[in-house]
Amino acid sequence: MSKNIQAIRGMNDCLPSQTPVWQKVESVLRNVVASYGYSEIRMPVVEATELFKRSIGEVTDIVEKEMYTFDDRNGDSLTLRPEGTASCVRAGNQHGLLYNQTQRLWYMGPMFRHERPQKGRYRQFHQFGVETFGLNGPDIDAEVIAMTARFWQAFGIADKVTLEINSLGNSEDRAAHREALVSFLQANQDKLDEDCLRRMETNPLRVLDSKNPDVQAMLVDAPRLPDYLSEESAEHFAQLRARLDALGIQYRVNERLVRGLDYYNKTVFEWVTDCLGAQGTVCAGGRYDGLVAELGGKATPAVGFAMGLERLVLILETLGLTEDIRGAVDAYIVVAGQQAELQAPVFADALRDAMPDCRIQLHCGGGNFKKQFKKADQSGAQVALILGDDEVANKQVTVKYLRGQKQQTTISIDSVAAELANEFQR
Ligand code: ATP
Ligand code: MG
Repeated sequence: MSKNIQAIRGMNDCLPSQTPVWQKVESVLRNVVASYGYSEIRMPVVEATELFKRSIGEVTDIVEKEMYTFDDRNGDSLTLRPEGTASCVRAGNQHGLLYNQTQRLWYMGPMFRHERPQKGRYRQFHQFGVETFGLNGPDIDAEVIAMTARFWQAFGIADKVTLEINSLGNSEDRAAHREALVSFLQANQDKLDEDCLRRMETNPLRVLDSKNPDVQAMLVDAPRLPDYLSEESAEHFAQLRARLDALGIQYRVNERLVRGLDYYNKTVFEWVTDCLGAQGTVCAGGRYDGLVAELGGKATPAVGFAMGLERLVLILETLGLTEDIRGAVDAYIVVAGQQAELQAPVFADALRDAMPDCRIQLHCGGGNFKKQFKKADQSGAQVALILGDDEVANKQVTVKYLRGQKQQTTISIDSVAAELANEFQR
């Protein structure tokens, strides 16, 4: 026998038993963004490598070590997208969506990063993201954060996630802070690990992001970002906080929150949870006013976020919130007898017309009642609808309730829809 071919490590199948949860999650997210009047954008999963190098930054974890990059047959360097923002900006520039306009967009789809696979960290994972363009005030920052807060409410996990926010200031603020930070780090070089020493040269702000506890202890006395914010940046941040306060959205200001990508300025935020162990960030984003111009467009302010769907699904599963999610089938039609076999598909279609939201599976493949009821049970259906030749002759259907105690009953074929509607409402 030939050897089975396996999926690539860290790239998961989503099996039929799991897809109902994913569909539910996706539909809740779609409904929330729709309720804010956002439009969907779909981008290719492969882009020119240069796009990610230029936007995410050469000295970031993603570009340094996580990208799936290859030469295509023409010798062009292509990369499986590690995130959506760069592609979204590229598409916006290319199609003239950004110049002198405002856009409120969302996207959803697979992203690829060559990381060490573990719980909550995969090589193909899925993000739901939002990007807004053309708005520079704190009102839109507050809106996108408030929208994420509504996601948690909709999923019933608002008390399991906490919001951290920070302001990185504008590029001049950052430059001034950077200079002071580098001096400080140079004076404390002996306490820096190899990674931080490298970052000190290339991207000093990211030293603040270090997970090394010794480094973190030393950073207590480091120059603080808030002390370097211009009046305008500080005001922007204060206004954002006032709006979050007015909305009753709680947050913690985390002065060390800098995010791993280069393109952020002013507002940055993360939603974190302690349900998932080390992979605690479910959603992260911020403002990136320089990126559109960096990628060749006209200067356009922007703010957005991306959420990791695997992590969201894991939270819901950990909390037991996925158990009630309906499977693929609501009603399963069991068939016995020649007349019944002819009439069952007609009955099924009439029921589908009468109940567009009801998922009706018709038994195929014959077999006795025992076999058919086993299939009905495995399908996850709430009810089996039994159509035998007697039922066909009398224009009746027998309804067997597969969950709960209710007695089976034989009713007129015309009242099946009403009976099911009643049953599914409970
Ligand atoms: P982390 O610090 O966990 O590596 P990140 O800063 O690299 O996250 P972002 O680039 O901000 O992550 O991506 C936004 C979100 O996408 C993350 O908060 C997370 O929920 C999710 N995410 C990122 N990388 C992965 C991955 N390899 N597997 C699963 N989800 C991921
Ligand atoms: Mg990462």
